[in-house]
Amino acid sequence: MSAREVLIILAHAQMCERCRERLLNDPNAIFRGRAMTDEEKARLSELTSADFATAERLSEVSGYDIGELNRYHDHPVARLRHF
Ligand SMILES: [Zn+2]
Repeated sequence: MSAREVLIILAHAQMCERCRERLLNDPNAIFRGRAMTDEEKARLSELTSADFATAERLSEVSGYDIGELNRYHDHPVARLRHF
């Protein structure tokens, strides 16, 4: 199991306010059909809008390092695919 789906979600939610709102308000709708573990889903469900305020904070609460998150900012799937 890779963290790819989670990183795509986090990177896109950092860039896209509309999808970030969806993630915060109805995370289960976004997780449907994605290859994620229950633990990953639980962790993302706990996020608040404040957790997206800075990359450092998001890194801290998500458990992924900033370099990893930043790498996904340039990933075409993270950039273009809305939730
Ligand atoms: Zn979006």
